[in-house]
Amino acid sequence: MMIKSSALLSLFTDGDSDSFAKKSMEILLRDHGMACGHFTGDECLSGRSPVHGAECCSVTEAMYSYEWLAAITGDPYWADRLEKTTFNALPATISPDMWTHQYDQMTNQVECSRFPDGKQPFNTNSEESHLFGLEPNFGCCTANFNQGWPKFALSTFMQAQDGIAVTAIAPSRLTTENLTAEIVTNYPFEDGYTVKMKTEKPCKVSLYLRIPEGAKNAEINGEKAQTGYNKITVNADGEVQINVAFTFDIQLEERDDAMYCLKRGNLVFSLPIGERWEKKEFVRDGVERKYPYCDYEIYPTTDWNYAFNSDKFEVVFGEVGKLPFSPEGAPVKIKAKFVPIDWKKIDGRCTETPDGRVQTGEATELEMIPYGCTTLRMTQMPLVK
Ligand SMILES: [Zn+2]
Repeated sequence: MMIKSSALLSLFTDGDSDSFAKKSMEILLRDHGMACGHFTGDECLSGRSPVHGAECCSVTEAMYSYEWLAAITGDPYWADRLEKTTFNALPATISPDMWTHQYDQMTNQVECSRFPDGKQPFNTNSEESHLFGLEPNFGCCTANFNQGWPKFALSTFMQAQDGIAVTAIAPSRLTTENLTAEIVTNYPFEDGYTVKMKTEKPCKVSLYLRIPEGAKNAEINGEKAQTGYNKITVNADGEVQINVAFTFDIQLEERDDAMYCLKRGNLVFSLPIGERWEKKEFVRDGVERKYPYCDYEIYPTTDWNYAFNSDKFEVVFGEVGKLPFSPEGAPVKIKAKFVPIDWKKIDGRCTETPDGRVQTGEATELEMIPYGCTTLRMTQMPLVK
């Protein structure tokens, strides 16, 4: 909430709308940044460890702050921050059917079972904070997680001083007195988008079309374009279609302790771990937790102790189904080579860094999927060639 405070105040004081938030963000990411683009907080800010937590409420509140910052400052930086949080941290901490969520999500999350008493890695949150359920740890996130997607949808189109801005990229439709505009896309599961406009009467419209940071070969209707907002003027009469094309490189980004995470555009990729969900039905404080509003512990069914073995990757695009943010429904995958290493699980979580960085078995090719599609995952891993 604090991130947007100075920008909101600037609406009344004519002060600087952008610099406080930028500085805050820089410090948050430097000292508490997670591979998924969010920052830790379990309950207080808790450093860059891949086994510390980030609270669900902080994800949706950060998104809301970025939405206001994007609107007030017009700075595309905030739209990119918004997309990173929305496409990664938000769906990762909510089950695909949206019946359950976590209080705390972790970067490297190999199991979601109740930690032994006092053995949780979190600073002040409980042993159950990373379980999926009705209100694990505390009920605030139950009330808060619902604001994520609807408010994000409201930030796709924004009103510019002299026209319309496509800010967050997602399927969306805008209706004004004289025109309808539609963003047609499967982004972030495909590159690019199309804006289809339909006018009642002929008119001249200024459109600000956003291209995400890090995008390559950007073009608008075949003309070279740049990242950030691109202003075009459309003489609309009837139906008009604008095609926005771009691609991304795959990046292996170095993080702490010589560990890496894989990114493509605003999506972070993780190695998904097979899951066994165990239902927990109980009554606590007079509240009954029965299916489908029960809690779940989730146990790994496949190996997770791996290191990247190569910096060569291959992206594979697939169909976008009804539940794109699910392990089975992941619409885009990256094939990567891994080797097993010595990495231990203690008290239901992996250690912060691997115990060894020597190959202990055969190299194998595995598929990574978007962080937001995973429940159990490894995201931050060493590179052992
Ligand atoms: Zn909360």
